[in-house]
Amino acid sequence: MAALDGKTALVTGASSGIGAATVRALREAGARVGAGARRTERLDADVTGELDVTSAESCASFVAQAVDALGGLDILVNGAGLALGRDPFTESSEEDERAVLETNVDGLIRMTRLCLPHLRDGGHIVNLGSVAGRQAYANGALYITSKFAVRGFTYALREDLLGRPIRITTVDPGLVETEFSLVRFRGDAEKARGVYEGVEAMRPEDIADCVLFAVTRPPHVNVDEIVVKALTQSSGGRILRADES
Ligand code: NAP
Repeated sequence: MAALDGKTALVTGASSGIGAATVRALREAGARVGAGARRTERLDADVTGELDVTSAESCASFVAQAVDALGGLDILVNGAGLALGRDPFTESSEEDERAVLETNVDGLIRMTRLCLPHLRDGGHIVNLGSVAGRQAYANGALYITSKFAVRGFTYALREDLLGRPIRITTVDPGLVETEFSLVRFRGDAEKARGVYEGVEAMRPEDIADCVLFAVTRPPHVNVDEIVVKALTQSSGGRILRADES
């Protein structure tokens, strides 16, 4: 019997990178998975649906339909997230600030609130944080703020749910090669490629492994936090490139 046979999961940000790899890992482990993102044509799961985590209506409708189709919920993976720009805060804009905070913070909180009533005993919430939520680096103020908030929310939620049979984990990755940098640099593929040049970044599957580890521990074990980095980095801001070693 596979570790997650009979379990169901919802994954946000499932159209790309870590979210998509997590959908695959959970399904391979036996779970039936509902996947959401804005680019629905890229979703591959047992149940798929359009999801914009910045919209209360979109989240409510996605959760209602996906949970109904799956027949209940055991695991929520909050993977949707983005950064916009890599500039000093003095160059920040109202629009970018809103997009990052509404996606990474408000969206994650909203999805958690909407899913909680559906989570069966033994349920599990996994939030995708970042090493940026543990240690600041230059020119990433809003993203860093948002990921510190994810960690704060995760800690606070653990306090409020203490005594209930629901587990909560934050997975905080360092450098993972995904479309994250393409989004961050607003479609500039060359700049995005530069982020991964001269360094062996982690793969989305490495992070999906961490999620899978957390959700397959015995029911009395809560993996609070997993911090995972590429070997040649010590923080989000300090990455050793091949020509620097
Ligand atoms: P990615 O490949 O760009 O994937 C981001 C995912 O988030 C996409 O599926 C995207 O789907 C979804 N998303 C963005 N805005 C959304 C919205 N408003 N509503 C619903 N979905 C939305 O990046 P990734 O690296 O896999 O990132 C996944 C998570 O890991 C993020 O929370 C990110 O902050 C975190 N993380 C990444 C790294 C890294 O180095 N890559 C490191 C640490 C943490 P649509 O555009 O189709 O909606």
